[in-house]
Amino acid sequence: MESSTIESATSFGRFFLPGPTEVHPEVLSAQTRALIGHRGPAIKELMGELQTGLRDLFRTESPVLISTSSATGLMEAAVRNGVRSRVLSLVNGAFSRRFGEIAEACGFVVDTLEVEWGQTFSADQVREKLASGGFDAVTVVHSETSTGALNPISQISEVVREQDDIVLLVDSVTGVGGAEVQTDEWALDFVLTGSQKALALPPGLAFGVASERLMGRSAAATRKGVYFDLVSFRKQLDNLQTPTTPAVSLFYALAKQLDRIRLEGLEARWDRHQAMADRCVQWVDTMRDERGVALSVLAPEGSRSPTVTCVVLPAGTTGPSVVSAMKEKGFTIGGGYGKLKETTFRVGHMGDHTVTELDAVLDALGEVLT
Ligand SMILES: *Cc1c(COP(=O)(O)O)cnc(C)c1O
Repeated sequence: MESSTIESATSFGRFFLPGPTEVHPEVLSAQTRALIGHRGPAIKELMGELQTGLRDLFRTESPVLISTSSATGLMEAAVRNGVRSRVLSLVNGAFSRRFGEIAEACGFVVDTLEVEWGQTFSADQVREKLASGGFDAVTVVHSETSTGALNPISQISEVVREQDDIVLLVDSVTGVGGAEVQTDEWALDFVLTGSQKALALPPGLAFGVASERLMGRSAAATRKGVYFDLVSFRKQLDNLQTPTTPAVSLFYALAKQLDRIRLEGLEARWDRHQAMADRCVQWVDTMRDERGVALSVLAPEGSRSPTVTCVVLPAGTTGPSVVSAMKEKGFTIGGGYGKLKETTFRVGHMGDHTVTELDAVLDALGEVLT
């Protein structure tokens, strides 16, 4: 079992989890370079190179913080540095719920606005809730990986900015690199992602951008702790370093991947992800209309993530059975998440996959389901 898993990893295009995602061999092998110290000219040169690529990726002029942690670390950083006392948590799936729970665990007052899993938030819903008053921060997930729904972040940001002094904290873990994110243009106060999702790097790094307003909050924050103190991140970053020892080997992989992203072009990369999402929808339609299998896409048209599709199964077919039948065919797909485990499955189509590789997994899924 172990050896076959390792073997299959050498043939790219069979691993479609919505994170961790399949890592291109070129990116994987970049990690074997000899280590360098994390103080001194060599790291500064590397960090300088990474900053250029990361700023392009986030569409920002601000420094991009690199954290040696998983993405959850920067979700915690967002609330610890950004919240004064009371948060509005927008919940439409498992990861957005987790964002609110993190804020609660950090001792903040959390008020939740929840819509059905698979749905997204409209600007009006958020405006109405904010009018009830007293909030100083909002948490939201851009691409809800548990449901495949994509929130309209630029519209939500506009509504949040109608208010006097509320910061918007955005988890774009399956967004950045696969879906359009315009950090500066959309005036996001904090936006974060992790290495192992749309960026198709090995797990272990997280990236975030903080607005000047958020940095002001951080300077005054009393519960931010040590490891995720954004003021110390920014201070070290001004000197092209990190506060603590970074995962340097992953930096090598990141440098390689940023290079590959630059060669492809970020907009072309967004288009490639959209094409994969469109292909999934088309496949679901064909299965339903021509092959008599009553599948549907959980998220409504117009609110679907370009990086992950959550498919609702007909009664009598369970998510785990589809996942294990696919496993037997040599493909890894995602099961339904949390309360959607039995009734759905998910295909992660992000990172370096193309429509061609996606077609192979959809063909196999078609055989499993008929
Ligand atoms: C995967 C994921 C996370 C958590 O990431 P970790 O790297 O496991 O901490 C958070 N939010 C979203 C939307 C995710 O997809």
